[in-house]
Amino acid sequence: MLVGILGGGQLGQMLALAGLPLGIRCRTLDPASNPPAALAAETVRGDFGDPEALHRFRQGLDLVTYEWESVPLATVEALAANLPVYPSPAALGVAQDRLYEKTLFQQLAIPTPGFATVDSREDLNKGLKALGLPAVLKTRRLGYDGKGQFVIRDHAEADAAWATLGSVPLILEQFIQFDREVSLLAVRDRQGTAAFYPLVENRHRDGILRLSLAPASGWTPQRQAAAEAYGRRLLDALQYVGVLATEFFEKDGQLLANEMAPRVHNSGHWTIEGAVTSQFENHLRAVLGLPLGATAALGSWAMLNLLGTTPPLAALLAEPTARVHLYGKAPAPARKLGHVTLPLPEDPAEREQRLSRLLSSVSADS
Ligand code: AMP
Repeated sequence: MLVGILGGGQLGQMLALAGLPLGIRCRTLDPASNPPAALAAETVRGDFGDPEALHRFRQGLDLVTYEWESVPLATVEALAANLPVYPSPAALGVAQDRLYEKTLFQQLAIPTPGFATVDSREDLNKGLKALGLPAVLKTRRLGYDGKGQFVIRDHAEADAAWATLGSVPLILEQFIQFDREVSLLAVRDRQGTAAFYPLVENRHRDGILRLSLAPASGWTPQRQAAAEAYGRRLLDALQYVGVLATEFFEKDGQLLANEMAPRVHNSGHWTIEGAVTSQFENHLRAVLGLPLGATAALGSWAMLNLLGTTPPLAALLAEPTARVHLYGKAPAPARKLGHVTLPLPEDPAEREQRLSRLLSSVSADS
């Protein structure tokens, strides 16, 4: 079986690694000369819009999936004319545009922050009036890790927000004073069977995921059931196949959907060691029409991203229970270079101790 993956980043690398023991091989397409996935998969170098590269990429593939949601929709649609593509181009189209995404949440009665379309300075005024302050102005497309966003705290900041972002279609959202952020990783197979991982708690630094705790602290079956009900609506509405990650704000015990990613997700990296079946293996199983694996967590886990620099390997390995993943990327400020997973003891005090040891083993700037 040969699976084509659009994008050759660390997500592609971990998908390819998950396939190896099952006899599933992957081929990635990426514009970079030596992307992380090249360590584990055959790699075609080329732009996503380059017909010659796409021709080489698709030879002999059983199906196509993607690990980067900004891959051009036209490319995915063109590939779908000749090959199965999962998740579907329609699902990708929704996830690429924050307005479509939030509209879908609303249609499915999934709570989401209030929002308004902004195509003009006039729309921005109207939106601010309707939603109140503070509010967040965001680009509808191509935003990630907090990029393409402007928090408007008073009316005087509206001009600056418009000057910074006003050249592209925008969405204005209510700013939520959330208690924390959580994500739900869901997977649905070709027959429509769905499975869910336990909710994950996510802590960001400068808009970038830094630490995930799984299951989320204070996890309850009720909260899990609420999240799964929302996840199931999305999966079914999109006739979704593969892993879908949905990010929520939690406020006063309620979940508000912020966005979804039609792919394996950073907040699911802990599943490699921490769940019966990893998100990467389950994504491959789903898209290939194979039975899904169990999604139960094997205890509690922390996942820490290594951002910008990596500490010496020996320092990371000094914690005997730590599992280290380095993606083989060149260091650059705030770049995700790897991650570390660590099983957490049940006792809250020991847990804090273990977590602070992990955090201090990773240098202050990583
Ligand atoms: P996003 O790209 O939408 O995931 O946003 C990046 C980060 O900005 C989120 O993880 C939140 O911490 C913050 N953020 C985004 N939208 C909102 C909002 N409507 N209210 C409060 N914080 C937000």
